[in-house]
Amino acid sequence: MRGCGHAACGFAEDGPGRRRLIAVWVVGAAFLVGVLVGGVVNQLGSDLPGHGAPKEPHCPYCGRRRPWWQWLGLIAYLSLRPHCPSCGAPVRIRRPLVEIGLGVVFGFLWITLGPSIRLLFYALYSAIFALILITDIERRLILNVVTYPAIVLGFIASFFVPGVTWWSALLGGAIGLTFFFLAALIGNLAYGSGAMGGGDVKLALFIGMITGYPLVIEAIVLTILIGAAVSLVLLITRARSLTDYVPYGPFLIAGAAITLLWGYGVAEWFLR
Ligand SMILES: [Zn+2]
Repeated sequence: MRGCGHAACGFAEDGPGRRRLIAVWVVGAAFLVGVLVGGVVNQLGSDLPGHGAPKEPHCPYCGRRRPWWQWLGLIAYLSLRPHCPSCGAPVRIRRPLVEIGLGVVFGFLWITLGPSIRLLFYALYSAIFALILITDIERRLILNVVTYPAIVLGFIASFFVPGVTWWSALLGGAIGLTFFFLAALIGNLAYGSGAMGGGDVKLALFIGMITGYPLVIEAIVLTILIGAAVSLVLLITRARSLTDYVPYGPFLIAGAAITLLWGYGVAEWFLR
């Protein structure tokens, strides 16, 4: 017998329909977890660069604690009250963007990876990447307090994530570190100090560890290609000149994300 017989739950009548409905709910739950993690990442992105311990959500201008409905930027904006009740300073648009972004990433990871150990680690990597993107874009900082624990996590992950072994993680990390250390050295000699920083080099070490050898090579190639393409567009549109600072973290993270998700598929497409 098919269906439950209740007129009220017509859309859940048969097996496939019910499974689809549950799938939608689960992806929605993954999205919500991403939004909540995004809220934490937002707060860390604001607090960590000041070398302060993470605090309860507070207004960065007047220091007052935020009311609960502003703990998430998404709720603050959806309730049309994205301003500090004490001083009127706006809740930064970055907050809802990061929350929605991580929500979409978590939902996407669930759809592509399903419940797995890889999903768990990739979700953690996404949160780390989001935090690095925030501090790198806003303050040109990639903090040790983020990269050092990330590197430890990357090494631990090599024992659990299929396709990576501890020696491929170490070798991948060494290649990422060496390549971008030399790139930073040459870049600083050519363009003056600051073209690429120690934070980028440590991020490259982390990415090399989580992609592992040989995929780290693909991550490096993609980073260079994406960096070159974006820099070219910025130069052509005159948004930046040759001597302007362009944060390199986003290119490293884009290259890493593509490699982690489509690794060998991309390599085969390249070499075809
Ligand atoms: Zn305020």
